[in-house]
Amino acid sequence: MNAVPQVPPRDTHASVTDHVLVADHLAKHYTVRRGMFGHGTVKALNGVSFALERGKTLAVVGESGCGKSTLARQLTMIEPPTSGRLVIDGVDVAGADHATIVQLRRRVQMVFQNPFASLNPRKTVEQTLAEPLVINTQTSAAERAERIAHMMRIVGLRPEHAKRYPHMFSGGQRQRVAIARAMILDPQIVVADEPVSALDVSIQAQILNLFMDLQDEFKTSYVFISHNLSVVEHIADDVMVMYFGGVAELGDKKTVFERPRHPYTRSLMSATPSIFEADRRIKIKLQGELPSPLNPPSGCTFHQRCPYAVERCRTEEPKLREVDGRQVSCHRAEEVGESDA
Ligand code: SF4
Repeated sequence: MNAVPQVPPRDTHASVTDHVLVADHLAKHYTVRRGMFGHGTVKALNGVSFALERGKTLAVVGESGCGKSTLARQLTMIEPPTSGRLVIDGVDVAGADHATIVQLRRRVQMVFQNPFASLNPRKTVEQTLAEPLVINTQTSAAERAERIAHMMRIVGLRPEHAKRYPHMFSGGQRQRVAIARAMILDPQIVVADEPVSALDVSIQAQILNLFMDLQDEFKTSYVFISHNLSVVEHIADDVMVMYFGGVAELGDKKTVFERPRHPYTRSLMSATPSIFEADRRIKIKLQGELPSPLNPPSGCTFHQRCPYAVERCRTEEPKLREVDGRQVSCHRAEEVGESDA
């Protein structure tokens, strides 16, 4: 995993050719009502930076409420960030005109957790797959039919499935339809938000394999969001562990999984049945719940749950920094994991 590269100056198309997507201190804050008259600020995303390499997969991992889905909405331009920059294929989204944004939206597609909810129940597979082509391309009906048949074949659907509605499929088949819909415009980036967590365990591996086959064929870059480290074990090139809207640890999969340097990463691994060799040595039980976003802890946001916490952790927020080949936000990262050696 490369360190976050220098983002090109605003309004330029400067070369970031090996990185199809760069997030530079992306933040999303929401104002919420508090009591009868008051308001509070929820920092759902609090300065997240990373770079996604072309044709690679960045897995984003963390508990529910850590900011993963907020990040997905930023990356797919569903909502704008409060601050920070998003650069897609060298284009700064904030400085782009409407026509450019429309083009960028074609290049970034999303796969959701629940395909039953994300597919229109009144549309057949054929209609579902035709819609993005009709809206975004000048293809003829014959070209669309050919493209749809090709995409259905690639994702493992049979020709007779074209006339069927979502309720006529199993969960795994519905997710194949949703993946076909995301891929039919040949996007450069797919953001997959918990794409297998609603599926039976026996089906999950098939869908993960499908994602990997599609990446081999189309060189698509993935941001693959999951709460489950064992799910991303197979598909990820790089891993970003998020906690409370920020980055706890970020690096290539082997580096992070073989010797995690953030106590939160280690506690996630303790709860995961099989992650490389590390799980046999690491036993940290995750204590307590995520703190209230309306009342964030001082210092390190993990200090109330962290078995390594010292006084400094309660007062001083750790910065993301390079330690042992990855980026990690922990005052004691050099000590954490030393007993694994
Ligand atoms: Fe734990 Fe302190 Fe590191 Fe936070 S900074 S993860 S509380 S050791």
